Amino acid sequence: MTTKWVYAFGDGQADGDGSMKALLGGKGAGLAEMTRLGLPVPPGLTITTAACNHWFQAGGAYAEGLWDQVRAALAVVEQQTGKRFGDAANPLLFSVRSGAADSMPGMMDTVLNLGLNDETVLGLAERTGRPQFAWDSYRRFVGMFGDVVLGIHHSRFQRLVDEARKDRPASALSVEELQVLVGKLKAVVADHNGTFPQDPHEQLRLAVEAVFRSFNGQRARYYRKTHGIPDDCGTAVNVQAMVFGNMGDTSATGVAFTRNPKSGAHAFFGEWLPNAQGEDVVAGTHTPNPLNRLGGIKDGVTLEEAMPVVYAELDALQKKLEAHFRDMQDIEFTIEQGKLYLLQTRNGKRTPAAAVQIVVDLVAEGLLTEEQALKRIKPADLEMVLRPVLDPDAKKKCIARGLDASPGAASGKVVFHSEEAQELAEKGESVILVRLETSPEDIQGMTMAKGILTSRGGQTSHAAVVARGMGKPCVVGCTEILVDYGRQLFYAGDTVVRRGDWITIDGGKGEVYEGAIPTLAPPTDAGAMGKLLSWADSRARLKVRANADTGADAANARSLGAVGIGLCRTEHMFFEPTALRAMRQMILAEDEKARQRALNLVLPIQRADFVEIFKAMDGLPVTIRLLDPPLHEFLPARAEEISTVAKDLGVRVDVLEERLKQLHEANPMMGHRGCRIGITTPEVYNTQVRALVEAACQVMKEGIVVLPEIMIPLVSMPAELERCRRQCEETAEAVLAEYGMRLDYKIGTMIELPRAAVLADKIAAHADFFSFGTNDLTQMTYGFSRDDMGKFFGDYVSRGILVDSPLAVFDKEGVGEFVKMASEKGRAARPGIKLGVCGEHGGDPTGVAFFHGIGLDYVSCSPFRVPVARLAAAHAALGYL
Ligand code: ADP
Ligand code: MG
Ligand code: MG
Repeated sequence: MTTKWVYAFGDGQADGDGSMKALLGGKGAGLAEMTRLGLPVPPGLTITTAACNHWFQAGGAYAEGLWDQVRAALAVVEQQTGKRFGDAANPLLFSVRSGAADSMPGMMDTVLNLGLNDETVLGLAERTGRPQFAWDSYRRFVGMFGDVVLGIHHSRFQRLVDEARKDRPASALSVEELQVLVGKLKAVVADHNGTFPQDPHEQLRLAVEAVFRSFNGQRARYYRKTHGIPDDCGTAVNVQAMVFGNMGDTSATGVAFTRNPKSGAHAFFGEWLPNAQGEDVVAGTHTPNPLNRLGGIKDGVTLEEAMPVVYAELDALQKKLEAHFRDMQDIEFTIEQGKLYLLQTRNGKRTPAAAVQIVVDLVAEGLLTEEQALKRIKPADLEMVLRPVLDPDAKKKCIARGLDASPGAASGKVVFHSEEAQELAEKGESVILVRLETSPEDIQGMTMAKGILTSRGGQTSHAAVVARGMGKPCVVGCTEILVDYGRQLFYAGDTVVRRGDWITIDGGKGEVYEGAIPTLAPPTDAGAMGKLLSWADSRARLKVRANADTGADAANARSLGAVGIGLCRTEHMFFEPTALRAMRQMILAEDEKARQRALNLVLPIQRADFVEIFKAMDGLPVTIRLLDPPLHEFLPARAEEISTVAKDLGVRVDVLEERLKQLHEANPMMGHRGCRIGITTPEVYNTQVRALVEAACQVMKEGIVVLPEIMIPLVSMPAELERCRRQCEETAEAVLAEYGMRLDYKIGTMIELPRAAVLADKIAAHADFFSFGTNDLTQMTYGFSRDDMGKFFGDYVSRGILVDSPLAVFDKEGVGEFVKMASEKGRAARPGIKLGVCGEHGGDPTGVAFFHGIGLDYVSCSPFRVPVARLAAAHAALGYL
């Protein structure tokens, strides 16, 4: 039996159908399916992807029987159209279109009007009575064929077209002018390749071969590699009878979406151009008109107004297509002298917000089940729904690329210092804070800025982590910019951006643009997302909490569906100016009494913060981590600051310097931090516990339900936790006795050191809960720090040793083993022990799937990732991840 290399479609019948994407490519399968549905599709044939693969394997030779099958199919199309390929009196013309299973930029562009030559152009002119149209088609064909098939740079043709039309549109050229132009275009081909091929069959062979070849072009190969598409999928070639949108004012071409691809609104949307051929709409050389006035579009003549009957037909067809494919469709159409043809349909691309709106609407319309809707949305995309995005239609100039640390787009004036960000923002200006990197001192400036750009740092740098927590657009590790604080400017290639200049950043893409680019606001009512997530929650088992350090963050997290705080970092509370000063006094104090005096100034500040958080989380658990970073982080680092601080605190500069020297650490990450501070300076933890229990007592009097979970960080020895726990309990009980109240509090620990995971059963003896601090656990398991890994990470990726940063994508194999072991040991030693995760991985779908799999109780992530984690938890429960 001979292999079937060619699948015909036309007149309501097709050899293939919509399910055959692998063999016919997406476009071919769509054309077959539309034909079967009885839609007006010009007839044609699809040469299979298998024929393409065969061609490569045979070193560039066509499969046996292929051209016989093509000729047979062409004959059918000739019958259906009543025209003949190559017939000088009544020529049949074709488009030759590439189409792999997944659309693949970099592959061959479409050639239209194939079959024209010096004779058939005359026949076409004669037959249609439109010489202008015939010669316009011919000049298009010679240009396209020369560029796409023969590989002559398109600018060589474009220059001649531009010269000929001067300031007029190309459609204004007279027949004589077009004839001269065609001659010149052919001369370019002759100059390059010899004569322009006149034989239509030879034109077709060359075009098919060019499509095959383009599959292995550099750009297409690169695209496949970066998108994980196999190299042996091949491309199909569609050869389809031409229909003409350039036959005068009753002809047109256009692109339509069955719903709005930006907002998801259920409103037919699209653009059209009268008297034009397909490529004119997408090429951006002409300004297309709107299809209709839905969504408040004002400009341009609509298709609905110009051709009401055709519009009504198109509207009916788009409804039919969408109901058939059960998804928003992106449709290409052409109108030839008042008759409508469909040339392509596919699932349309859309913004993340539109994607959510569309699936929720499709469920309401009965076209999808809730679970199908859940499956269609990628959890990570939900993070984008709440953020502004750049208007896809806006003109933009990208001046630098970095890492996509925190999604969303923001525009503002460039400032280089936090204080200035604050000053300008308070005056109501939009600012983007640009830094080499950020540190805890920059928090206020970061809070006030619209976005943050740093030239250094990775996905888990301070800037990245804090910005994500704040839900603020952020690009980090943008090594393409050179920041000069001294001169208050940065260089991005040839561009110099000075303080006060406007830039725009897209934290979802990691891109930096010149000037202010319009953004689309996120939907104000998260109605559709709320509905989708309620479906998710009813399927998920893993609960989702948020990491939040302030009452405002906590309230935000709650509104995004967090069912508790999994990590409240208390160090930020010490950076409030009065607290910071007191902390410094505490660090410099000579004895315990003086230390406690200083801490007593911190106490009311922390208590007020806890009050806010408890109020926001009424009735939900709040995990509060006691102080974690090393004390030197509270002392100044720069020389000029040291003298100011010394003066302020009334100590001698050399005394302060001496203390700084004592506190200096070679490896701060493994230094005097976490529970080590709680043990050497118990007053710090005692003060924190006092503040939180007092806050609890205060709000409980108002009827608020407080469920605090006190968390001791960086434990590696059971004795550490035992001791810290005892101290905390003594303080808590003392405060409760003072207030004469009772409080249901828990004390637990972070599991963030390998040794803690190994000894989890012994540690569980002192812990009511474990929270896996997967950021530190990852760093400690690999033995590298996020601050230094940038130096070798790129090499590791390019050499294939690492694919993703384990700080961004959870390492199931290594770190996951520790988490699993600690969970098992913890549960064995203390049945019912509560287990959660509070690292960045709590919002990483890979991590969520893993934590679901080993039966943890909850994950906790940045507030803006809560929806991501909720959907990921449902995907995990439904087996989609
Ligand atoms: P792409 O994948 O870039 O969209 P297509 O093969 O779909 O490429 O075609 C490019 C343009 O040519 C589209 O606008 C399409 O509508 C138009 N086109 C393709 N085939 C025909 C045809 N047979 N008749 C008229 N226009 C066509
Ligand atoms: Mg294309
Ligand atoms: Mg197309």
